[in-house]
Amino acid sequence: MKFGGTSVGKPERMQQIVSLVSKETEPVIVVLSALSGTTNALVEIGNHIANGDRGTAKQTIDKLEKHYQDFINELVKQPATSEKAKAIVAEHFEFLNIILKISFSEALSKDILAQGELLSTKIFSVYLEELGINHLFLPALEFMTIDHYDEPQIGSIKVKLSQILNQHKDKKLFVTQGYICRNPRGEVDNLKRGGSDYTASLIGAAINASVCEIWTDIDGMHNNDPRIVKNTVPVEQMSFDEAAELAYFGAKILHPASIWPAQQYNIPVKLLNTMQPEAKGTTIAEKAAGVGVKAVAAKDNIIAIRIKSSRMLLAYGFLRKIFEVFEKYRTPIDMVTTSEVAVSITIDTDHNLKEIIKELEAFGTVEIDKNQTIISVVGNEISQTELMVKKLFGSILNIPIRMVSYGGSPHNISLLVPAEYKNQILQQLNKGMFGLE
Ligand code: ASP
Ligand code: MG
Repeated sequence: MKFGGTSVGKPERMQQIVSLVSKETEPVIVVLSALSGTTNALVEIGNHIANGDRGTAKQTIDKLEKHYQDFINELVKQPATSEKAKAIVAEHFEFLNIILKISFSEALSKDILAQGELLSTKIFSVYLEELGINHLFLPALEFMTIDHYDEPQIGSIKVKLSQILNQHKDKKLFVTQGYICRNPRGEVDNLKRGGSDYTASLIGAAINASVCEIWTDIDGMHNNDPRIVKNTVPVEQMSFDEAAELAYFGAKILHPASIWPAQQYNIPVKLLNTMQPEAKGTTIAEKAAGVGVKAVAAKDNIIAIRIKSSRMLLAYGFLRKIFEVFEKYRTPIDMVTTSEVAVSITIDTDHNLKEIIKELEAFGTVEIDKNQTIISVVGNEISQTELMVKKLFGSILNIPIRMVSYGGSPHNISLLVPAEYKNQILQQLNKGMFGLE
């Protein structure tokens, strides 16, 4: 059971977690994020130190410390556990204050970022102790490791974790940190922003869990973006393939990398709402529930690049040469469409864009369209459903479409549109494809 930042962010939410966990009959590993806002504050602290602005870093540290002191004062009441909680907060903020005095490095910035999850789990553990709830505190740094490519080492995670669990067969409740891990140099590292979901899925895979529950503040993956479209509904069931398409294309609810461990080890993932625990949420499993459209999602800040060349006609190796340029600049490509004399490609970062354009110009004329949005329509076998395609395009006749990607996967149709049409297209699709006004 993984609880995100807002699910641990207030003392009463931590109480809520205890009540959710207590209902379980099977043993549970609880994975916690940092309290909401903490990781952002730690990023800021790191940036200030890196920029030599120690004064502002110190202010941010002090403000955060005050937040934690208030938090534990409200959460933990008995003298003995209260002392413990105070000591935990003091220890971690003393560490941040020491870092302030030594010269900054990349490795140290990772140490700073790790403080959030270390604090939330230790505080939660003390709170469980106060309630007399038997549990084991499971330091993620003892089993969660990544390799030289920042990839989690699932084999070794499995071995280490089962060794620890085997030594504690009497325990029914375990508490560990999301997000943090160790790298091959033995340093503290992390699974990138939002990585606690990834931790949960990796643990689920490593221990062959019956289910991996991701508890957040929304009742599952919705059919459309609730921040933009009023009338959205949670999707009850979807396949790993559908979820992967959606998690990547902007549905911010789940870290995209967290799909593969669950999929590979076939662990069902449930997206649930801490604030509304009785809601069904979304279950992601191997099989999709029926054929048809499930959801629409948008990905912003896309740049489209068109390379036009008559030399492409009847030539081979042309695409390889183009792709190699993106590989050289380590820039992932999202969408690709081709005609006989042109290729259009999308990327989601303008890092190295100048260099990329310069190299592409060797192959033909290059045109750039910035500020585009990918609209992804996801559903089991949707591209095979004739009526779907008709409904899809029928409902957006007034919108200029820059690219269409159809058939890459049977579960996804992606459209590229200028960003200013995003809200309109999401709303029109909600009506046209889901019949929701
Ligand atoms: N605390 C980390 C973050 O905010 C990891 C997570 O919450 O998933 O990115
Ligand atoms: Mg998250």
